[in-house]
Amino acid sequence: MSASIGSGHRLRLFNTLTREVADFHPAQPAPPGSPGRVGLYSCGPTVYADQHIGNMRAYVFADTLKRALIWKGFEVRHVINITDVGHLTSDADEGDDKLELAARRERLTAWEIAARYTAEFQTDLRRLRVIEPSVWCKATDHIEHMIRFATALDDRGWCYQIQPGLYFDTQKDGSYGQLARLDLAGQREGARVEAAEGKRQASDFAVWRASAPGENRQMEWDSPWGRGAPGWHLECSVMSMEYLGQHFDIHTGGVDHIPVHHTNEIAQSEAYLGDGRPWVRWWLHGEFINLRGAKISKSTGGGVLVGDLIDRGYHPLIYRYLLLQAHYRSQAEFSWAAMDSARTGLRRLLDRFSTARAVTTGDHALSESALGYLDAFDQAICDDLGTPKALAVVASVARDNALSDADSAELARRFDEALGIGLADLSPADLDLRPSDSRISSEQVERLLGERRAARAAKDFARSDQLRDQLGALGVRIEDQQDGTSTWRWT
Ligand SMILES: [Zn+2]
Repeated sequence: MSASIGSGHRLRLFNTLTREVADFHPAQPAPPGSPGRVGLYSCGPTVYADQHIGNMRAYVFADTLKRALIWKGFEVRHVINITDVGHLTSDADEGDDKLELAARRERLTAWEIAARYTAEFQTDLRRLRVIEPSVWCKATDHIEHMIRFATALDDRGWCYQIQPGLYFDTQKDGSYGQLARLDLAGQREGARVEAAEGKRQASDFAVWRASAPGENRQMEWDSPWGRGAPGWHLECSVMSMEYLGQHFDIHTGGVDHIPVHHTNEIAQSEAYLGDGRPWVRWWLHGEFINLRGAKISKSTGGGVLVGDLIDRGYHPLIYRYLLLQAHYRSQAEFSWAAMDSARTGLRRLLDRFSTARAVTTGDHALSESALGYLDAFDQAICDDLGTPKALAVVASVARDNALSDADSAELARRFDEALGIGLADLSPADLDLRPSDSRISSEQVERLLGERRAARAAKDFARSDQLRDQLGALGVRIEDQQDGTSTWRWT
């Protein structure tokens, strides 16, 4: 990826802190010959349940950012945390502890619950080709450090102790809520932020959560404020500074982190550092993907998992491709029909690039026209990670019959460094996750489904039923949806 060092377009990113797109520069001066080093922290999941594909969007987004930084030649140190201390069912220090609830539900210890869901989360990241972070860190390994951090805040007068624990006094922080543009005067107890007995302001948050008298928790530690557990926000402040230094470049998360979690991380970190400088200069947030159209009814009542995609015959990278079709700052909509068209789109790209790969070997210097495509791709990525435009460039390359195989194969290799959708190594057959004994490909299934759609549109239900039976005999189950579309899966 070093080919792009110092060349091409300047990377521009949208910063939630300023609400503006601006040129990105890391804080540390760059060593000679390199654009520099970047410290990147991404808030990880609380590991008390499966992460559905909607949750995974935040990590594909962080990975897209990381790949763009590497594409531009930056050396990236990436940290993802695992919240294995149960924080509460609401972001605002209220409700039951999620890990302890899950432990009771599944008859495991809280530690077993955390280990199980951490492993499943990491497996799904690998399936989506999210590059392994430089550091995985988990909250339970850093309790002592968190207590030292909270003690420092308390000693400097930022906190007060009440029965539910040690609370950060947000009124003492003149710039509290800047990230979220919070209207503190308009914030009322019991609205978005819930109350805790004795809290001075609705926005105050727990730095340390004391175990309730008589409560028997599996995960609790001694502290100067009694037995209990660290507040959720404290984890991220402590672990990010531990692995990236007191000030680092970029912090990412989902848009849902802006009003509470990231707001509180900033408040306590800047209070702790006390140097008058912003703690982290760049805050990037990914939007949601709406899964309403795709609930899978399961006993757990959960959303669609990466494993469910595989069960239905979709390669996980089809989902990554679908995500990249939307800009990370726009909401996206998931549907099985969208997955089908993403599969068709990705298969078309792989058709071209796998053929090109097969007939080329070794290093290749790109032609003028190939360099033009590379520049257009670079421009799209540098424009606040414009993956929809970047994919359009990829599609143009796949369609361009005047381009040599060697050019196409080399472009596919370079594009995939930024996209991670298998352009450099997958073939169309790899997208077809059919059982090994199947006598029909997913492409043929889709062709027959197209015929069946046409038959239904023409009200030829006999033909439609016949096609359903034919597919059924070939090990394909069709499920008609209420909106008139249908999905299918291998049986
Ligand atoms: Zn966090």
